[in-house]
Amino acid sequence: MAEFTMELNDEQKEVRDWLHGFAADVIRPAAAEWDEREETPWPVIQEAAKVGIYSLDFYAQQYFDPTGLGIPMAMEELFWGDAGIALSIVGTGLAAVGVLANGTEEQIGTWIPQMYGDTNDVKVAAFCSSEPDAGSDVASMRTRAVYDEAKDEWVLNGTKTWATNGGIANVHVVVAVVDPELGSKGHASFIVPPGTPGLSQGQKFKKHGIRASHTAEVVLDNARVPGSCLLGGKEKLDERLARARERAKSGGERVKNAAMATFEASRPAVGAMAVGTARAAYEVALDYAVTREQFGRPIIDNQGVAFQLADMRTAVDAARLLVWRASWMAVNGKPFTAAEGSMSKLFASETAKKVTAQAIQILGGNGYTREYPVERMHRDAAIYTIFEGTSEIQRLVIARTLSGKPIR
Ligand SMILES: Cc1cc2nc3c(=O)[nH]c(=O)nc-3n(C[C@H](O)[C@H](O)[C@H](O)COP(=O)(O)OP(=O)(O)OC[C@H]3O[C@@H](n4cnc5c(N)ncnc54)[C@H](O)[C@@H]3O)c2cc1C
Repeated sequence: MAEFTMELNDEQKEVRDWLHGFAADVIRPAAAEWDEREETPWPVIQEAAKVGIYSLDFYAQQYFDPTGLGIPMAMEELFWGDAGIALSIVGTGLAAVGVLANGTEEQIGTWIPQMYGDTNDVKVAAFCSSEPDAGSDVASMRTRAVYDEAKDEWVLNGTKTWATNGGIANVHVVVAVVDPELGSKGHASFIVPPGTPGLSQGQKFKKHGIRASHTAEVVLDNARVPGSCLLGGKEKLDERLARARERAKSGGERVKNAAMATFEASRPAVGAMAVGTARAAYEVALDYAVTREQFGRPIIDNQGVAFQLADMRTAVDAARLLVWRASWMAVNGKPFTAAEGSMSKLFASETAKKVTAQAIQILGGNGYTREYPVERMHRDAAIYTIFEGTSEIQRLVIARTLSGKPIR
């Protein structure tokens, strides 16, 4: 097990500087344009693919970094550049992780390359779990997957919503109900291959922030996928369902919820995105405060402004520390006995909302306009307290973990 460290090693520093360069030179200058266009920034994704930032190899390298700092460091730098564009670059990873976590080696080898495409023809992927009536309450999911044994095909029906890259993805990973009696234990994940009849994009959402990231409904109308598209395979699913039925019969014995463990491990990455946005806004505010003069002196010479900056920097650093701790715990298999993953996401996301609002205040009228980036950063920051579990759900998970109550 790697010791917890707050110091990046030389190799990590090199990667961080390289990512920072891309964020500063390619992402940040394009941010305002793609925010206004509210479209997927394909040329920027292609650029990221060319230099090796948009690839499974790159994320796998960071993911398996035993210090746990690879992913949070990468997320912080890219989202420092711009949250909407960065989400367009890393959104495919959400679907890829779904396949890596549950798929067979063959499924990983077949589908993940198709999620990314190649540098001349980049593709994206979507992970579709949320539904109009199943957001925080995942167990109330209704999209059904029924097995057609004669054809060895699964038939998917339902409507997914809020899917990042939904409808424009080459590969969709769809979570569906295979046994409605079992609640969230009766769910399974499916690959929907490119061009599958019956899958279509519904409404594309016009959003408050992260507008360069495409978010849409995905409609499944008798979408048929081969049996081989069930992630993990039928045998494993049947075994899992049989175990869940046994437990339900014997009075629902409390078991460690594997999905919750996965969330604890993935939430620090979202926390790191929030740290990136918060740090970006803090830096703009600091720079402004030392250069903007009123009453014959820089506004930072007023304690009211200086103390705000002190609080902003303290919060950003505290958020990063929580994120790094949780990420180190995830990589090293430490049990999340106080829901430390949720803690890091909760604190970092609330910090991003607060710090970006403080940045607007420090920039005064300029902060309120689109001439300066903090207005966009504040709109972007609002997503972090909503997706991958709202702040209320993080508090619920932390409180239930602390009190030993079950988390469904
Ligand atoms: C831009 C964007 C991108 C997204 N990308 C994806 C994606 O790629 N794939 C995907 O599957 N999903 C995605 N989501 C969905 C996201 O995860 C959900 O929006 C989120 O889980 C919340 O669900 P909901 O919107 O239905 O809110 P609801 O669950 O309806 O919650 C509404 C409010 O009620 C509160 N609330 C609910 N239950 C409780 C409770 N028990 N106690 C206290 N408060 C409660 C919530 O905290 C919230 O404030 C995305 C969402 C957005 C906005």
